[in-house]
Amino acid sequence: MKKIVIVGGVAGGASAAARIRRLDEEAQIVMFEKGPHVSFSNCSLPFYLSGVVADSKKLVMMNPNSFEAKYNIDARVNSEVIAINRDQKLVTVKNVVTGESYEETYDLLILSPGASPIVPKLEGVDLPHVFTVRNVVDIEKLHNAIIEKNAKSIAVIGGGFIGVEVAENLRLASRNVSLVEFAPQILTSFDEDMVQILHKEMMDHGVDLVVGDGLASINEQAITLNSGKVIDADIVVLAIGVRPETTLAVEANLEIGETGAIAVNQNYQTSDRNIYAVGDVIEVYHRLLNKKTRLALAGPAQKQARAIADHIYGIPNQNRGVIGSSSIQVFDLAAASTGLNERTAKQLGIPTEAVYVIAPDKVGLMPSSNPLHFKLIYEVPTGRILGAQAIGKGNADKRVDVIATLISMGGTIEDLKDLELSYSPMFSTAKDVSNMAALVASNIMAGRFKQVRVDEVRGLVESGAVIIDVREPNEFANGALKGAVNIPLGEIRARMSEIPKDVPVYVHCRSSQRSYNAVMALENSGYDNVYNISGSFLGISLY
Ligand code: FAD
Repeated sequence: MKKIVIVGGVAGGASAAARIRRLDEEAQIVMFEKGPHVSFSNCSLPFYLSGVVADSKKLVMMNPNSFEAKYNIDARVNSEVIAINRDQKLVTVKNVVTGESYEETYDLLILSPGASPIVPKLEGVDLPHVFTVRNVVDIEKLHNAIIEKNAKSIAVIGGGFIGVEVAENLRLASRNVSLVEFAPQILTSFDEDMVQILHKEMMDHGVDLVVGDGLASINEQAITLNSGKVIDADIVVLAIGVRPETTLAVEANLEIGETGAIAVNQNYQTSDRNIYAVGDVIEVYHRLLNKKTRLALAGPAQKQARAIADHIYGIPNQNRGVIGSSSIQVFDLAAASTGLNERTAKQLGIPTEAVYVIAPDKVGLMPSSNPLHFKLIYEVPTGRILGAQAIGKGNADKRVDVIATLISMGGTIEDLKDLELSYSPMFSTAKDVSNMAALVASNIMAGRFKQVRVDEVRGLVESGAVIIDVREPNEFANGALKGAVNIPLGEIRARMSEIPKDVPVYVHCRSSQRSYNAVMALENSGYDNVYNISGSFLGISLY
């Protein structure tokens, strides 16, 4: 009978424990968790702040009794593993309530201690109204403090996934919220052109969004930023990132990788083959970056946990590495991304092209049809798909998941062009936005069509370039680019003589589809210097 000891009882730890039990009825499984809860939904924590999750007890999915009853797993809460003795194959466990310590032997040890929130060394970070969010206790403390203080103004520091979700949920709870991000944008998995949509959504919902400025200090009533700006805050939430909890591993002399997380082999074994590690504490191989990276996401943690259990019981598993897929709700918008963004692909020196398509997420006649902003990033000349980003009221995640699947299979623009996806007017369009992006990319690769990006438009306007707006006159009257000439698509053939042939011509509409047709009409009529403005007016209006 194997004795398997697990450190950490949430995403990775609990998943490994359950899978091991499903594979082996005899194994003795002991799972230590230093907090008071095992198996809670980390990802749902922010939703307690708005009341979307009404009761914090609902955040906890299993307790030690149910682990015992359903899986015969010995789950011990308030039990911190404080040392590993690799020679004797035992761990020292401290009961954090009583302070008592004891030892527990193991045949195999699985480390899934996760990552802890980074707290910068700045004035005021130790004040009682400063919080981080990692577990159920944290979110209850934050929630209670907001109620007790009747907090008027809350500052959230950090525009990553946790910071954005916390800010959103606090705003939904009618608090005044400032979100401060040091980088020029929130959610860095998105490119600058796409993230503007999310910036606008946050601001439209009353979040005071400050980008490009960092936290300098905190006092009882306010925070001060590097720029000197002072923001009222009777509660401060720090969400500036997480650090893998490697202390145990370091003290046990396990190898730490180049990223500062635990190094593991393809089977998630550490440098001691009797010790496995999973989740936020390890470094993983990124198959697009072609190097080790850290990826603090629940899906990979759970899949790695299963792979460990399988490896222990001789079930082969192919470790394909990660590509980094994530999704988030930002007020009324769903946003998702996968793979490389354009910025990273270019930094890596990959010859990269991107298309930005704005298409209806459902057939336009349907009452709930809305524009979906979709960006597809691919390698040239191979057409290998590198990444995608989607933002809209509809199913952005579905579109991005299609691309994640293709990336995982080494898919290309040609594969996506022909990919047969399900369709009904209530769910998508007969040619889904993801197919459409591939068609545009394929036209560009074949040299049938040229484009410029929305972030180049300002320069075009300032230089007095010829810009043709092919929307209808009433749309044009409601707002147009300075100097643009309005020739609706329906009049383009009759009014071609108004469009010069000897200079570059830039065409846009609302979402790039009418302008695409106008560009093709012009090209087929002898214009060889015509560009579609990718992203068109919906994209331009965000700049
Ligand atoms: P965890 O699930 O954090 O579990 C580690 C556990 O180990 C902790 O409970 C800790 O107390 C315990 N522990 C640590 N050291 C010891 C020790 N020495 N002894 C005993 N116990 C120990 N990911 C997504 O994919 N999508 C999301 O929407 C998403 N939202 C998130 C929202 C929030 C607020 C947070 C905090 C995280 C979110 N994540 C999300 C990330 C995701 O939760 C993590 O990537 C995932 O939980 C990692 O699993 P893990 O097992 O490595 O660590």
